[in-house]
Amino acid sequence: MKRYYDDGETRSPEKREADQDRELVRMVRAGYEKSVRVREAFAEQGIEPADIKTIDDLQKLPVISRETLVEWELKEPPFGGFSAKEIVTERIFISPGPVYEPHLMENSLWGRGYHAAGFRTGDIVLNAFSYHMVAAGLTFHEGLRSAGATVVPSGTSGTEIQVSLIRDLGVTGFTGTPSFLKAIIEKAEDMGHSFKNDFSLRRAVFVAEPLQPSLREVFETDYGIDTYQMYGATEVGDIAYECIEKKGWHICEEVIVEIVDPSTGTTVEEGALGEVVVTRLNDMFFLFRFGTGDLSRIIKEPCSCGRTAVRLDGIAGRVGDAVKVRGLFVTPSQLNAIRNELKDVDFQLVITRESYRDHLTVKIVAEKDKEEIKNRFGTLFHNICTVKIDTIEVIEKGGLSKEDKLIVDKRNWK
Ligand SMILES: [Zn+2]
Repeated sequence: MKRYYDDGETRSPEKREADQDRELVRMVRAGYEKSVRVREAFAEQGIEPADIKTIDDLQKLPVISRETLVEWELKEPPFGGFSAKEIVTERIFISPGPVYEPHLMENSLWGRGYHAAGFRTGDIVLNAFSYHMVAAGLTFHEGLRSAGATVVPSGTSGTEIQVSLIRDLGVTGFTGTPSFLKAIIEKAEDMGHSFKNDFSLRRAVFVAEPLQPSLREVFETDYGIDTYQMYGATEVGDIAYECIEKKGWHICEEVIVEIVDPSTGTTVEEGALGEVVVTRLNDMFFLFRFGTGDLSRIIKEPCSCGRTAVRLDGIAGRVGDAVKVRGLFVTPSQLNAIRNELKDVDFQLVITRESYRDHLTVKIVAEKDKEEIKNRFGTLFHNICTVKIDTIEVIEKGGLSKEDKLIVDKRNWK
């Protein structure tokens, strides 16, 4: 059985970089020739195609948000000038926005994630994504096919129908959202089945909705379902996927991912949190530097699965919900992760500005074991948020309620 989707997944980082630089140069040349939007962007920045030779050079171009892409597509339908006027493709995807996308006809689109999750020929997989008016259904369908699986295009049919399909067809896998699989399992149990003992569904790949660790535990422990996550966006396709190690998501071979400071568009320091910005290497849709609005960071350490692509450390939140302390992001989801670890400990972050420098104070409610709680909080915060805390204050019970905001930004920029 093929361990990797293709040889690209195990090439050396140096070879990957050289290959991608070459493909990027090709995409820049083709884009400049075929896309009016690319020519405009180059003119605005005062650069020529020859100025982009490497991944680092991408920073000479602006980041394009979803809002900007939709604006252009509304002004100049269908593709906003990001592709040639005439294109040959087998289908055009439509998504709310509206976002129009030419199907790139790449074999590997979403295939890597399904392959890494273990789907192969012989698997029968329920594809519980809509096939209608969104890209999801068909695009995941083809990803499953390229991993070899047989697909049951059940879409968003009701849970009772999904349960019948799982039972009648001997379905072995599921792709959809975690909440939908949970609802299907509950329906099956209501109908008198034991999901774990009566059915053969043993593998699930989730996308489009975060998988909460507690729900993952329920799927894996209570129902014996091996779970995986994939990450992507309608505008650029698949971006990253989880391997069997389940410690971060490998970046797909066809995309260049930059982690940038959303206020400047330049890359952040190694390992820091920033916006995920994606360029999909292709010769049809010339969307350079698509800003997803998601925050993540890169894990550079080698993965024991053998794939050499760096990994994204999950999604820490959305750009608009985060605050920046000394240039580093702190997000509500990171703080909730700390809160889950520390169970009954209430805390609050207060950010002030002293002598032109951000000052981070953490207030923790504790009656006893104050030093121990302080230390545990400090270690957890360092591991999850990386920003250095300036002061930790232990306060009495009643000093803070569950309703108080987790982050209070008192900085005055005047
Ligand atoms: Zn891996």
